[in-house]
Amino acid sequence: MLSFKPVIGVEVHVELKTESKMFCRCQANYFGKEPNTQTCPTCLGLPGALPVPNRKAIEETIFLGLALGCEIPEYSKFDRKNYFYPDLPKGYQISQYDLPFAVNGELKLKISLSDKQSSTIKSVGIRRVHLEEDTGKLSHVGDSSFIDFNRSGVPLVEIVTEPEMESSDEVKIFLQKLRQIIRYLGISNADMEKGQMRCEPTINLEIDTGNGNNHVYTPLVEVKNINSFRFVQKAIDYEIKRQIDQFEQTGEEKQSGNKTTRGWNEATGETFLQRTKEEAEDYRYFPEPDIPPFRWSSEWISLLQAQVSKLELPSEKIKKFVEEYRIPETIAEVLTAEKEEAEFFEKVAKLGVNKSLSPLEIANQIINKKVDVSNLTPELTLEKILSGKNKTNLPEEELNAIIRQVLAENPKAVEEYKNGKLNVIEFLVGQVARLTKGQADANNVRDLLKKLIA
Ligand code: ZN
Ligand code: MN
Repeated sequence: MLSFKPVIGVEVHVELKTESKMFCRCQANYFGKEPNTQTCPTCLGLPGALPVPNRKAIEETIFLGLALGCEIPEYSKFDRKNYFYPDLPKGYQISQYDLPFAVNGELKLKISLSDKQSSTIKSVGIRRVHLEEDTGKLSHVGDSSFIDFNRSGVPLVEIVTEPEMESSDEVKIFLQKLRQIIRYLGISNADMEKGQMRCEPTINLEIDTGNGNNHVYTPLVEVKNINSFRFVQKAIDYEIKRQIDQFEQTGEEKQSGNKTTRGWNEATGETFLQRTKEEAEDYRYFPEPDIPPFRWSSEWISLLQAQVSKLELPSEKIKKFVEEYRIPETIAEVLTAEKEEAEFFEKVAKLGVNKSLSPLEIANQIINKKVDVSNLTPELTLEKILSGKNKTNLPEEELNAIIRQVLAENPKAVEEYKNGKLNVIEFLVGQVARLTKGQADANNVRDLLKKLIA
């Protein structure tokens, strides 16, 4: 009997939202701009143009590296990755090969166990974080292809994990967590739908052939062109099934160093073969001769580390919410999903102290009422919560419907009230409170009940 264990890693590309591009002064924000209006000789790859690295982009890459617990090597450099494609006018991409800006980090994931009640912490290794330039953008209409170079040269961070994930769910949690950290750092919106974050999973299977310790691996596959969390999951699940089938039919095993590239077809929900046998040597990497290598002082790295430490990343925020505000971890996780909401909550909680509102009450209100943190001030939110405590929160129609339901379900109590047993009204008020989960003002409910009975 064969047993299979998926072995999954991801390469994630994230566009930084710097003012200017990676190696020239063109605007980096190309979203919605007229095609080919944010270009210059450098990002068009014209002869004689020279690249000047964007300091901010390098700092932000190291920021991310530090936030992911990476080491920052003292030496680093850019390299040329040579390949031909119409969206790459120079014939090479300026990237990093053997000396990336950050290496050897980890990201801790909270994985729910099958009982859905408990969870476990899984650490996924971050092999490297490097910086490169984005390519132009191709689009195809009918028989014609169009190219827009506005995206060419936009700073692009690449994060490469160790192949330590075992399911598409784990990959999804990894990507969500990574995106959350990137947004907390404020270096990118990392919106997959807008192409600001792109994910390429590498997948194969470890197969236990049942003969003692005999493990073999199926050929390694990288899936390209995936633009949503959902499709990343679907592509991985498809690939796992496909590799099981293929191994059962052919018994084909992984060749060392070899990687097959497959595309993702949204329409069919399948991956399809693009290239076989891709290896690093194919790119003829060599040091970028137009940009001198870097050597960082330990003081500068410590300075960046201090800045990152001050930021309160999601894990620190959760810890703070649990310890200082006495909020259950599950609620703290919801509140810290987006930095804006987490900070908004903290402001309301601070104001609430004087009004003897507990942080937990405020947290529940913000989550349950889906408070629109971008449109309300903390002061106004606090007022609403306070007035909500004393007044009817439910829409009138909804409350009336509940009162009618209570009357219909308790004909005996209604009869008794009509016959002069006036205390019975309190029983009915209680029934309404139960159904409205205490969201309606008791005096108001009593009045409405009396009116409807009469
Ligand atoms: Zn340019
Ligand atoms: Mn890349």
